[in-house]
Amino acid sequence: MTSIDHAPTQSSAAPVGADDALPTDLVDVAVLGGGAAGLNGALMLSRSRRSVVVIDSGTPRNAPAEGIHGLLGNEGTPPAEFLARGRAEVRQYGGLVVTGEVAAARAAAPAPDGDLRFAVELTDGRALTARRLLIATGLRDELPDIPGLAQHWGHGLVHCPYCHGWEVRDEPIGVIATRAASLHQALMFRQLSADVTVFTHGFAPDEESRGRLAARGVALREEGIEEIVAAAGGGIAGVRLTGGELVPRAVLTVATVMAPRTDGLQELGLTIEEIGGGMGTKIASGFAGVTEVPGVWVAGNAADPSAQVGPSAAGGALAGGHINGMLVMADTDAAVAARRAEAA
Ligand SMILES: Cc1cc2nc3c(=O)[nH]c(=O)nc-3n(C[C@H](O)[C@H](O)[C@H](O)COP(=O)(O)OP(=O)(O)OC[C@H]3O[C@@H](n4cnc5c(N)ncnc54)[C@H](O)[C@@H]3O)c2cc1C
Repeated sequence: MTSIDHAPTQSSAAPVGADDALPTDLVDVAVLGGGAAGLNGALMLSRSRRSVVVIDSGTPRNAPAEGIHGLLGNEGTPPAEFLARGRAEVRQYGGLVVTGEVAAARAAAPAPDGDLRFAVELTDGRALTARRLLIATGLRDELPDIPGLAQHWGHGLVHCPYCHGWEVRDEPIGVIATRAASLHQALMFRQLSADVTVFTHGFAPDEESRGRLAARGVALREEGIEEIVAAAGGGIAGVRLTGGELVPRAVLTVATVMAPRTDGLQELGLTIEEIGGGMGTKIASGFAGVTEVPGVWVAGNAADPSAQVGPSAAGGALAGGHINGMLVMADTDAAVAARRAEAA
């Protein structure tokens, strides 16, 4: 497997403006990751007059994309512009957005009244204490190890018919099939182009699947892939099969294996679970992103690898609202206890 390198790219280098300083006082919520999920969570929290800090390392999953598609009201907006707008909206209500990378996050000793505390450390040595955490670090895509493949990720090599499908309509498309789900992906792209070829890679379709592909006019090549050949002017020239034949293709699709980005989060003890069908893993969560670790919520691709930008933002909003609701209850419980102690 080749892990997609989440290094900042030209398109992800969002104009962050003047970076906020990390507060030294206790904050209500630290949001780890400032993509669509984290920023929408922070928006809900800051509008609820919660002190909230988003810590973001600036490498969103869709950084290679030129524009976001399928998101009403934002069709074609460059990811960096979308996130810059989101940061400004969070800051408008007093939320802080800090550029930094989380090195460690862990439960700390609770407050004397039993309220939870979390310690967050950044790779540059800065530190923060928060009452609650929202994990919104996204996911990492892993590609099959095929020479020449990874360099085309997010451009000639795409994964999602809703993100890039319209843009590659009618093109000669190649589907790199690594598992049964790849055949569904082939049929999805067949909806967008009549010229689709499936190239198997360590996977053999069963008879029924072959019949379904053939019925839709999808070609099947099972010789094995030697390498992806780049075009002279950039882009993809085609797929070189074992044996030497070059099958011309302008666009390739592949179903990645996905894993939540948990760098620095190990000490929290979050449960990582399989998502089935060989698709990878995610952080286990329930309603509104509640995890099995008290005081920790998760939203976006870290919790739901299938979520596009819209559902990721919605997940963050739901989690942010739920965290505020739980804090309201905790604050009220503490106030009642203090009142009783005073009266005693
Ligand atoms: C090539 C490509 C194109 C896509 N195009 C579309 C599209 O057109 N339309 C669409 O709806 N969806 C698209 N998607 C899907 C989209 O990228 C995701 O739905 C979305 O990014 C999920 O949002 P998120 O907030 O969960 O994660 P992300 O956007 O990945 O944000 C996570 C953030 O957390 C930060 N982070 C991670 N670890 C740490 C850490 N340890 N410390 C601090 N910060 C950290 C990262 O830097 C990142 O900024 C595309 C995906 C890909 C791969």
